[in-house]
Amino acid sequence: MPIYEYRCKDCGKTFEKLVFNSSQSENVECENCKSKNTEKLVSAISSAGFSSGSSSGSCGYGGFS
Ligand SMILES: [Zn+2]
Repeated sequence: MPIYEYRCKDCGKTFEKLVFNSSQSENVECENCKSKNTEKLVSAISSAGFSSGSSSGSCGYGGFS
């Protein structure tokens, strides 16, 4: 299970959260001020080997005529 790092935009606190499923990784509540105005930080805490956005052939449209 990946651990994501979040930062609260309201109080500026950063905290780590264990995320059990992807839907839970959004709208994480700040553990300091309970705000949900948080953002997920891209860090390499335990995400080695975890890659996203590896869809191939998305480098521009090829259907122009
Ligand atoms: Zn906060």
